[in-house]
Amino acid sequence: MNKIKIEKLPDETGFFGNYGGQYISDELKAEFKKIYDNFIYYKDDKEFNDELNDLLKHYSGRETPIYYAKNLSKKYGADIYLKREDLNHTGAHKINHSLGEVLLAKKMGKTKVIAETGAGQHGVAMATAAALLGLQCDIYMGEVDIQKEKPNVNRMKILGANIISVTSGAGTLKEAVDEAFKAYMNEYKTAMYAIGSVVGPHPFPMLVEHFQSVVGREARKQIIEMTGALPDCVVACVGGGSNAIGIFNGFLDDEEVNIYGVEPLGKGEKLGENAASITYGKDGIIHGFKCLLLQDENGEIANAYSVASGLDYPGVGPKHCYLNSIGRVKYDTVNDKEAIDAFYELSREEGIIPALESSHAVAYAIKLAKQYPNKKILVNLSGRGDKDIDFVLEHFPKSDS
Ligand SMILES: *Cc1c(COP(=O)(O)O)cnc(C)c1O
Repeated sequence: MNKIKIEKLPDETGFFGNYGGQYISDELKAEFKKIYDNFIYYKDDKEFNDELNDLLKHYSGRETPIYYAKNLSKKYGADIYLKREDLNHTGAHKINHSLGEVLLAKKMGKTKVIAETGAGQHGVAMATAAALLGLQCDIYMGEVDIQKEKPNVNRMKILGANIISVTSGAGTLKEAVDEAFKAYMNEYKTAMYAIGSVVGPHPFPMLVEHFQSVVGREARKQIIEMTGALPDCVVACVGGGSNAIGIFNGFLDDEEVNIYGVEPLGKGEKLGENAASITYGKDGIIHGFKCLLLQDENGEIANAYSVASGLDYPGVGPKHCYLNSIGRVKYDTVNDKEAIDAFYELSREEGIIPALESSHAVAYAIKLAKQYPNKKILVNLSGRGDKDIDFVLEHFPKSDS
C-alpha cells in the first residue's frame, strides 16, 4: 500500500494543501507575522513549556483519563473508550488552547486579549485564562447569543471579562468574529487576538492545533497502556475542528487506525439546516482563510445551524479540509435527533452528561459499534453537558423526565 504523506505543518504562506492562508490586509499580515515568530520561538522554549505544562497539570487537571464505557460497550457490542476532556477545568478542551494563547500574549508583552465567542465556551475559557494570568479580556459576542447563553455570560462577568455586544447582521458568531477583528486592528500594539478553534488566518490554525495536540499525545499512550494496542477507530465532533485535530494528531501516522470526523447535520441536508461544512461546503473564504464553506449558488455565506451551538460555524479548519482531500480522515454526519438520543444514552448508561457537541461523536461511535462489533473505538468527549441541561429538558424532554 502506498503510504500517504501527511503534511504536519502548513507551508510558509499558511496553506495545508489548498486550504488556509491569509486573506487579510497587509497591516494585519505584519502583525500576524509577529505572532507567528513569537509562537515559533516560544513553542520550543523550555521556560514557556514548563509554565504551560504546570498549568495544564495543576490548574486544568491534565492528564485527563481514558475511561472504558463498560455499559455502553456491552449494549452495542464494541469496546468504547472515552477521552475525558469534559473533566478539564471549565468543562471542555477549550482551556488547552486558551492557556497557551494567553500565556503567549503575556510573553509578547500584551496587556489584553481579544476574542469572539458563540455559545460562550471559548469566552469562558479565555476569561478564565486571562483572570489567572493577569490580562484584560474583551469578549465579542452577538446580541442574540448573549440572550441565549445567560449562564456563560454571567460566568465571564464574574471572571472579570468585558463583554461587547455585537448587533450587526444576524448578531451571532460570524458577526462577533468580524467585530473582534476590527477591534484588534485598532489595538494590536497592546492586545492579542485569540481565536477559539483551528480556524482564521495563518498562523492561528497551526497555533491552536499545537496547543490541542496534547490530547492525542496523551490518548495514544493511555490507550496502549490500558489495552496493549492502538484503537481501531478514533472519533471526534468537528465544529471548527480543534478538539478533533487534537486527538487525530496522535493517530494520523498509524495507518491501521480509522479516523472519523463527525459534522452536525442539524435538521437536514438543505442549506441553512446544518453546519456540515466538509460534507456540503464548497471552496470559499471566511474570516481570512480558505476552507470548505457553506454557501449558496451566489457564493453568499450560508447561516449554519446545529442544536449544538459550539458546532454551528459555516467554515471549518483548513487542516481538516486537507485531511479530507487526501482521504486520511473520513468525515460523516450526525443529526440533531441522533445527538440528543446519544446525550441521554451516555447519561443513563454511564452517568456522564456530555456536551451536545460531544454527543455527536458519541452518537457516531454507537453507529460504528453496531456496524463493526468487537472493534475498539476511542471517542474524544470534548466537554461536559451542564451548559445544555436546561435547553435539553425544555426542548427535548424524555417521557420519563
Ligand atoms: C466549542 C466546542 C466544540 C467545537 O469546537 P472544535 O473547535 O470543533 O473542537 C466541541 N465540543 C465542545 C464541548 C465545545 O465547547
